[in-house]
Amino acid sequence: MPESEHKGNGRPRYENRDLAARARRKPESARLSALRSLCLLDTSPESCFDTITRMAAFQMHAESASLDFVDETRVWAKSIWGGKLREFPRKDSFAERIIDEGKPVVVLDTQSEDRPRGFYRPDKILDLRSFVGVPVSAADGHIVGALCVGSSQPASQIDSDEIALLESLSALVTDQLELRRLRLSTDEPSSRPTETEGAYQTAEAILPLEMDSAWPLAEDLRYALDQQQFVLYYQPEIELATGRIVGLEALIRWRHPRRGMLSPQVFIPQAEENGLILPIGDWGLGQACRQLQLWKKDRPWLDGLRVCVNLSARQFTRQGLADHVESLLLQNDLRGHHLGLEMTESSLIPSIGTAVSVLTSLQKLGVSLHMDDFGTGYSSLSHLHRFPFDVLKIDRSFVKRMSKGTQPLQIVKTIIELARVLGMDVVAEGIETPEQCALLQKMGCRFGQGYLFAPPLPAEEIDELLRSPETRIDHSITIPA
Ligand code: C2E
Ligand code: MG
Ligand code: MG
Repeated sequence: MPESEHKGNGRPRYENRDLAARARRKPESARLSALRSLCLLDTSPESCFDTITRMAAFQMHAESASLDFVDETRVWAKSIWGGKLREFPRKDSFAERIIDEGKPVVVLDTQSEDRPRGFYRPDKILDLRSFVGVPVSAADGHIVGALCVGSSQPASQIDSDEIALLESLSALVTDQLELRRLRLSTDEPSSRPTETEGAYQTAEAILPLEMDSAWPLAEDLRYALDQQQFVLYYQPEIELATGRIVGLEALIRWRHPRRGMLSPQVFIPQAEENGLILPIGDWGLGQACRQLQLWKKDRPWLDGLRVCVNLSARQFTRQGLADHVESLLLQNDLRGHHLGLEMTESSLIPSIGTAVSVLTSLQKLGVSLHMDDFGTGYSSLSHLHRFPFDVLKIDRSFVKRMSKGTQPLQIVKTIIELARVLGMDVVAEGIETPEQCALLQKMGCRFGQGYLFAPPLPAEEIDELLRSPETRIDHSITIPA
């Protein structure tokens, strides 16, 4: 593949700027802070950026142009000329490469298999062959994104003047970002100071202690992510007949410096609404895989153990989920059967076509697919057979009511029978009493989780439980919630 890094005619004019850019490059955390202080990831696109991408495409005689900002895991395209707006995984994207290198990158006349991934994949429609991208900086000099163009014309070289032109358009983006920052600080005098004005305030100073319905805002969640305040607890899933641990459900908590340990019900709905569920979910998925790899190390008896992660609708419908999961498995030396993904019916129903294709790609990886909270929400039995689920999780509200009358008991029986016919395993959630456990076993339910066996526990306590191949959680040993 002929590829050059800004080869121009003669000595490239921007070489000194390149050195300056390298010197300016700061650690990833500084870049992310600069990006976050601009609060532009989960806001609507601004039309001023469209003028810049359009100019970039015209001036460079390119079919498409894109202005991308890059956080830990995603590329947030804020303006695209020649394609649809979207955000996509950061890994192996063209924007990631520009951020990592901190200087202009030119890819000339690539073969299709060598094309940069990402770049919102216009190559599928436009068959792009050559790409040029330059970093975009905030006013304080931190690189926060990339301005890229793609062309279907194979190029033998890119003129240094063309790079300079793209860099001046990138400087226009910097001006727009600075205007935006100034506007934000005048509009919201109480909002968090930017990196240039000093370090973030402590969470205590920013957050009101009273729970108001709008709390937490996107920036509170982003700050918590940045400060590593999220933590995963793990609740064992048990084979009821033997007490053997077959899985661990990862359940997120927020260790808030003032408010204490917060339940996901307090912040997941807001995170779903404002889009922060994407980086939070990516963190959770990665953390659960890393943790399982640690537990499994030197413990061959844990090969059959899987860790299950809850996915929200937004994570699920995003492009590239299966690729992301596959790369996490590879990075952590795990195989598909080590990971379970839990989704509720309601997260699948709005887009059944997408759901079927995403689930099918995940199934190909060997990942175990769990329908969570079954029996609540849509309960559209007619859809169930279309989804390749491996496990049905009976919602705990049914388990709770089971001993209170024949109708709830009948519902649980029907769910277990339905799963049997469809070849799925059943996990009953929220088992709290030995009676519930006995009733479920009698009806043919093999697996369960609940306070009767163990509440969600921190990773260190699970580590203790997993130490011996003989460990069984017998329901005669009640662990308090
Ligand atoms: P879920 O996936 O249905 O998780 C089961 C919930 O039941 C957990 O609540 C667990 O602590 C609770 N539970 C387990 N055993 C018992 C029991 O015997 N009795 C009772 N009363 N409750 C029991 P938790 O941890 O508060 O999580 C609530 C929901 O938040 C989860 O429901 C899941 O939908 C969501 N969630 C948790 N972690 C994540 C995450 O990382 N990502 C996403 N998208 N959602 C998450
Ligand atoms: Mg769950
Ligand atoms: Mg559930």
